[in-house]
Amino acid sequence: MSQSDDARSRPLDKPAALRAVKGMNDVLPDDAPLWERFEEAAASVARAYGYRRIRTPIVEQASLFSRGIGQVTDIVEKEMYAWDDKADKDGRREQLALRPESTASVVRAAIEHNLLYDGPQRLWYSGPMFRRERPQRGRTRQFHQFGIEAMGFAGPDVDAEVILMAKRLFDDLGLDDVRLEINSIGQPAERALHRVALIDYLAAHDAALDDDARRRLHSNPLRILDTKNPALQALVEAAPRIEAYLGDESRAHFEGVRARLVDAGVPFRVNPRLVRGLDYYNLTVFEWITDSLGAQGTVCGGGRYDPLVAMLGGKAAPACGFAIGIERILELIRTSQPAAGAACDVYLVHQGEPAARLAMRVAEGLRTVGLDVVLHCATGSGIGSFKSQMKRADASGAAFAVILGDDEVASNQATVKTLARDPAGRDADQRRVALDDLAVMLVDALVEDEDAFDDDADATPSDDAADATPPDDESIAVPSMH
Ligand code: ATP
Ligand code: MG
Repeated sequence: MSQSDDARSRPLDKPAALRAVKGMNDVLPDDAPLWERFEEAAASVARAYGYRRIRTPIVEQASLFSRGIGQVTDIVEKEMYAWDDKADKDGRREQLALRPESTASVVRAAIEHNLLYDGPQRLWYSGPMFRRERPQRGRTRQFHQFGIEAMGFAGPDVDAEVILMAKRLFDDLGLDDVRLEINSIGQPAERALHRVALIDYLAAHDAALDDDARRRLHSNPLRILDTKNPALQALVEAAPRIEAYLGDESRAHFEGVRARLVDAGVPFRVNPRLVRGLDYYNLTVFEWITDSLGAQGTVCGGGRYDPLVAMLGGKAAPACGFAIGIERILELIRTSQPAAGAACDVYLVHQGEPAARLAMRVAEGLRTVGLDVVLHCATGSGIGSFKSQMKRADASGAAFAVILGDDEVASNQATVKTLARDPAGRDADQRRVALDDLAVMLVDALVEDEDAFDDDADATPSDDAADATPPDDESIAVPSMH
């Protein structure tokens, strides 16, 4: 069926449903708590080490990435979303790109705003990245990274610091199934010598190479060591190792990183074949890897990138960082830990117009004291029966339903019902509480372990409310009808 046939056979009032772009996923509200958990943990770890957030644009000049990441990398060769923008009034066109990663952007911003003039910078970022890859498990076209960039620091201490940060974040998230691999890829001059030896070796085994390896042989031979092709494993295992080409300084730097990791009690494996996909790395490279996610098991990649600042036109400055693939981390949390629901404290149920008006004011009062309150509101089919509202209250995950009807309005009280998910694990219970006491009662019940209902067993009806102990702080009384 052609498109126009399809259009004709559709009723006029029902437009075709649109779909998201392939490989670019929605994050639905059920997943929001998981994302928030990661984002809060990441921000808190960054704070604990004195890193400050930087936000750079999603769109940059395409040349930033071709100069920074390197022309012959997969990212720039095949995966970058880049386009010629509309010509300006002088007919000039800019080549723009969606960022495939953020290190180049952060360095660009640091140079542009002279951040390093004030001394070294500890920075972090978090946000979406874009690569036109084949979508599969653990690999999408829009994905998110949380990353660290420590700029202006030269020693092995900061390499160890960023590695420890990743470790602390995984620990805070309860992830123990991640292991650390590290390597040193030396300085560019050392790599150049290794590269010659590597090309010689691989060229001598040309017949055994796959197409990918043959294509990379003269452009990016280091990346061949990283191949996932099982047929090439024995060949790359026996290839010349960068280690043999490291000078004294590079060796000492690597030794310094390893000693600090040992001091910190962080286990690691030196993987002599570990390289990074991007051109700008030197000295320390590392990956955090899990075996629980199948083929896409690298959850964090990083290392030192001393050459990049000068490559992008700044005054040379050493730097080091990492990027964590957030979706892969969330997948890991999902497979190892039960989902935590996003629950509110109170769901407000009401019947009748006076109660509806009161309910809105009560809800505002409770929010003012810091409670999370969902007010029942009419849908397309109306406000719903008491029973259907209570169903919504249960489904909301709230600890309490606060119920207002004509009786409650008349007596200036609310009915408070403990829902199944009372945080203290109490059985469902229901009682009347004076509106003046409602906020205190709910806050007590939510923050204290003791049974607030028992404490409030003598809860007074509204006409005795004046005799009840007044709240410590006036602001925590909800508005009453008087
Ligand atoms: P890979 O070898 O998995 O392609 P990479 O070397 O391209 O990784 P980096 O550029 O170092 O990855 O990005 C750091 C992290 O970001 C990766 O370890 C991974 O967790 C995540 N990541 C990279 N590309 C994607 C993608 N297309 N979809 C989801 N996560 C990704
Ligand atoms: Mg990749």
